[in-house]
Amino acid sequence: MVDLNDKNDRHQIPQPIRSDGAGGPDYGPRDVMRDLQNPDLLVPPKTDAGLLPNLKFSFSDTHMQLNHGGWSREITVRDLPIATTLAGVNMSLTPGGVRELHWHQQAEWAYMIWGSARITAIDQNGRNFIADVGPGDLWYFPAGLPHSIQGLEGGCEFLLVFDDGHFSDLNTLSISDWFAHTPKEVLSANFGVPQNAFDHIPDKQVYIYQDQVPPSIQSQAVQSPYGAVPLSFSHRLLAQTPLETSGGSVRIVDSSNFPISRTVAAALVEIKPGGMRELHWHPNQDEWQYYLTGQGRMTVFAGNGAARTFDYRAGDVGYVPFAFGHYIQNTGTESLWFLEMFKSDRFEDISLNQWMALTPRELVQRNLHVGSELTDALHKVKSPVVKYPGFTFNPR
Ligand code: MN
Ligand code: MN
Repeated sequence: MVDLNDKNDRHQIPQPIRSDGAGGPDYGPRDVMRDLQNPDLLVPPKTDAGLLPNLKFSFSDTHMQLNHGGWSREITVRDLPIATTLAGVNMSLTPGGVRELHWHQQAEWAYMIWGSARITAIDQNGRNFIADVGPGDLWYFPAGLPHSIQGLEGGCEFLLVFDDGHFSDLNTLSISDWFAHTPKEVLSANFGVPQNAFDHIPDKQVYIYQDQVPPSIQSQAVQSPYGAVPLSFSHRLLAQTPLETSGGSVRIVDSSNFPISRTVAAALVEIKPGGMRELHWHPNQDEWQYYLTGQGRMTVFAGNGAARTFDYRAGDVGYVPFAFGHYIQNTGTESLWFLEMFKSDRFEDISLNQWMALTPRELVQRNLHVGSELTDALHKVKSPVVKYPGFTFNPR
């Protein structure tokens, strides 16, 4: 912690002054803690220029929805207006805490951060799905299908991603909400039981509630006459063998290996200290990012001389508009782990390095005024995360 009133701490206070002397001191008012977290906003790389919208929002700057049984917070277009394709919800459930039976107009993709949960769902053909999920596991509920989530022993925390930036988890269709807004004689007729069976139903949406940790999954099994859903609604992402590179690792998951996930594709990326997610872009969709551990920075190139750099750390969301060039550097001392997600059935990216390697070398050399030193070093095979031994960060 930096104490502005402590003279001994003043040398730690960053100033908007570049190493070449450009800029000048800021004596305040200012939020030094935020400046320390955003060194590339305070002193941008010299190559940053032009207009780019905000591409960062932290879950720490969102409203916490606190319930008995857990909490949730979300980042949607209301918080990060550029992020129209996907919205994210960070949720935690206590042991036994339940995100109640509900459904929504958007598909739900999820990544379990820690702990474990029991998830349930059915499809339109009466086929059901009941499974326990743990760290690194995914689930996907197609739009409109009803489902629930319950924390198991120890509780859990997860990231939910919805395939519409306008989504809000506070605006879903809940079983308790529908019961509360249906006349009891209608409920009685629908289920064929007396009205007094509904004397104690909740009078409004429950959302999250505290319950006991459920018994074993075997003891809770429900057999459907139509069987289980034909495509699993969950996937063990960490069980996938990663693509290992010099700078880190990548696990790609989309409908090619998680077939039910037809509207969300993702990559779990590890960037080791000194490593970099290479210069690339995506030819199909915007990218929605969630930072899991560590610290990094991303520079996004928007054409017309525009480029801007943002600093990210665990708990932040980043965004890259469709086809904009970008790269991500680990600026910390531990591995930077993050998820990149797309509203698409397939993960697709274009590597700048690979593109140049598969183009006539004379064309590349004359276009960029470079020699064979560069064209000889190009890679025809993608290396999504790179590490160059001589790499140092820009002097500030
Ligand atoms: Mn849901
Ligand atoms: Mn990307």
